[in-house]
Amino acid sequence: MNWKNIVKFFLILLVFGIILFVYLANRDMDKIYGGHTKEVDYKPYDLPSLAFAITNVNVLLPDGSKFIPNRTVHINNGLIVSIDSISNKFGDIKTIDGKGRFLIPGLIDSHVHLFKSPNDLLLYVANGVTQIRELIGEENHLIWRREIQEGRLESNMYIASPRLGSFGSLEGFFMEWSQGFNNIRNSEEAEEKVKSYKTKGYDAVKIYSYLNKESYQAINKTAESLGMDVIGHIPWSLELTDIWSSNQSEISHLEEVMNVFRREFGKINGQEGADKFLEYVNQRSKEIVKDLVMNDISVTTTLWLVESFVRQKFELDNVLKEVALEYENPGISEWTKNVPQGGLGWLPEVNRYQLPENLTEKQLAEEKIFWTTYAKACQIILKNLSEGGVKIMAGTDANLPPTVPGFSLHDELISLNQAGMSTSQVLLSATSIPAEWLKIDAGKIMKGFQANMILLDKNPLEDISNTQTINMVILNGKILDRNLIDELLASVRNANNLSRKIFC
Ligand SMILES: [Zn+2]
Repeated sequence: MNWKNIVKFFLILLVFGIILFVYLANRDMDKIYGGHTKEVDYKPYDLPSLAFAITNVNVLLPDGSKFIPNRTVHINNGLIVSIDSISNKFGDIKTIDGKGRFLIPGLIDSHVHLFKSPNDLLLYVANGVTQIRELIGEENHLIWRREIQEGRLESNMYIASPRLGSFGSLEGFFMEWSQGFNNIRNSEEAEEKVKSYKTKGYDAVKIYSYLNKESYQAINKTAESLGMDVIGHIPWSLELTDIWSSNQSEISHLEEVMNVFRREFGKINGQEGADKFLEYVNQRSKEIVKDLVMNDISVTTTLWLVESFVRQKFELDNVLKEVALEYENPGISEWTKNVPQGGLGWLPEVNRYQLPENLTEKQLAEEKIFWTTYAKACQIILKNLSEGGVKIMAGTDANLPPTVPGFSLHDELISLNQAGMSTSQVLLSATSIPAEWLKIDAGKIMKGFQANMILLDKNPLEDISNTQTINMVILNGKILDRNLIDELLASVRNANNLSRKIFC
């Protein structure tokens, strides 16, 4: 073999090596977002939308203040036809005895991530979450939404675009490949991208932290002209006044508001610094109430997740035991050790929130103060915004570690209640407030509204954790009784378990 042939041989070997590497890397990327997990067949759950009545039931008033006893709710064609005190007038349609039970609107999780895990759609339904807002949309999600026409059992979906950020070319390529970002560096690129989202069928443009000001403003302008919502983070390149003068109609985390205050305040030093920061947060959050109300900007909560940070750092095993880990897509929870930083893994070896090893006692104490303060600041902001009349929408960031789709909304509601919202306000934050934001006739039990409801065994106004006492879910007029709900849950658990390697 002469030297030319040797070079040729190695070049061919190199090309094959690169192709194999890209193939394996892409396969891994698909797997860690849940794309290799066996999908539950949705065909057996193609349920009819029925005409029926729920009799003798306690019905939540549209303002969420109390239950009215002994109502009969008549449902037909996926809509609520009437709510009255007379029963037995519907002839031979199916009736469901609601005696002693509590009927509330179906819940809305205003911040979820499906990634590549369609089994999650059934987890939402089984948990009474009849509407979701997907905040890192992908074309898969648009396809799943269309499949509702073919009888796919799923919550109603609002789908935001992929996240937008401004990066250099190489970094932009990597962020797009690894985390699905779209890279926008100037107003021309922004305009073009927003138009393409509109064509594809996304409902909103999702803003992310790394976006520059020029792109942010161009996105707002184009989205307004196309009738699209602008939602998401508060970019680091902006002041709050830039948000007030924009078309952004939602901030996707309480944490985003808190991080603006943190940037204003500077470094938090020790317990004394933490206390001063919390005073600052208290004062500043009261100041911005009027801007949020005047500009009609809603704030989504994701509070339980923030509260879990300190626990994930110091007692991850306990946290993992408390959540419904057996329903989580194992691709996501098990992740891969090949992406050590910034990943979404849940389990100890891949959990992004874990502290580095070898921290001193002093450093550990500082970490504890910092993350406890971080959560407390979000609780203070929530209380002040809620009391000031800002529209609060319950959201979980589902699929971030360790928020299990569907189940986590119930945890979120408990967190909101513990942070100072009344049980009634909490229910509104997961029903009528997001429904009004979405401009849909849902979120209230009212004549003409969508028949999306949950029948509960116990009163959630007395104890918000009673939203978990689900006896029946009604989704677009389809009836899912407790047996069917348990069957759905088992089907997801079994399908996910086929790919699960680590059983906790
Ligand atoms: Zn999120």
